[in-house]
Amino acid sequence: MEKTIEQIYVDALKQLKTASDPESIKSLSIHYIGRKGIVTQFLRNISKLPQKERPQAGKRANEVKKLLDQKFKEALRELKTTTSETTDQIDVSLPGRIVLQGTLHPITQITRQVCDIFTRLGFDIAEGPEVETDYYNFEALNIPKNHPARDMQDTFYVSENIVLRTQTSPMQIRVMEKHTPPVRIIAPGKVYRCDSDLTHTPMFHQVEGLLVDENISFGNLKGILTTFVHRIFDDQTSLRFRPSFFPFTEPSAEVDILCVMCRGRGCRVCSQTGWLEVLGAGMVHPKVFENVCYDTTRYTGFAFGMGIERIAMLKYGIDDIRKYFENDLRFLRQF
Ligand SMILES: [Zn+2]
Repeated sequence: MEKTIEQIYVDALKQLKTASDPESIKSLSIHYIGRKGIVTQFLRNISKLPQKERPQAGKRANEVKKLLDQKFKEALRELKTTTSETTDQIDVSLPGRIVLQGTLHPITQITRQVCDIFTRLGFDIAEGPEVETDYYNFEALNIPKNHPARDMQDTFYVSENIVLRTQTSPMQIRVMEKHTPPVRIIAPGKVYRCDSDLTHTPMFHQVEGLLVDENISFGNLKGILTTFVHRIFDDQTSLRFRPSFFPFTEPSAEVDILCVMCRGRGCRVCSQTGWLEVLGAGMVHPKVFENVCYDTTRYTGFAFGMGIERIAMLKYGIDDIRKYFENDLRFLRQF
């Protein structure tokens, strides 16, 4: 036995350091730990050692064999990554990587379109709190404590007199308290109701509109809303005004458009009626004016409200309102 196992190990590492290509590393590996390699031979010749040295030498030789195997493999791996980095050439014929651009959420898009249409018609935008007092959300809008209209809305109560607003209508009061006529505003924002199914979510978006001045009639209301519907859908969209009831308007109307799915023939979406409700509207109730100290003999006005989700569903043909809030990119990328 010429060399000790430690010497063999040191030599192998020294030689590995100078090896600069895969071929020489592979031949080093064969030279040391191959079937006829130096370390292998050493192990075979263990029996020639003095009896008491054998266990220790055998153990160490096996360790060295394992270590060298690791070192050779590592060296090969390293060589591979560094060479592939330097020799990889740029293929200019490859198509470029597409950087995906974010888009605005459909609800944001429709809200902006609605705001855009009304600001061009001379309306200002007003925003207010989503946590509202009972007074602004109900009382001042002619919905007193025991009014049956409160049953129409399942309200989230924060405390006895504080609610999550169930409508954007409180903004009518807030704006009129601060300004004298003429008033022309729209108020977009989130509203909350205990409701959840195909067409309802506990949180949704509304846009409220209010116009107060001298000599404002139902004719003005019809004119503004017809213009709006034609601009948000298209010029050919037929609409109708249907008598309805809201506590804070009198007379009140619901505005329907000809079903965008079946063009009036009747389908599942319009419940075979051929019409779809898109807006609620009416002339501001004198009691509401009294609550904000407006002279009811001098001023009249109209108010309207619509659900943004509903407008977007009709415009884009979406059948489930919950899709807006699931954050599914496959859905959102279509807008
Ligand atoms: Zn229809």
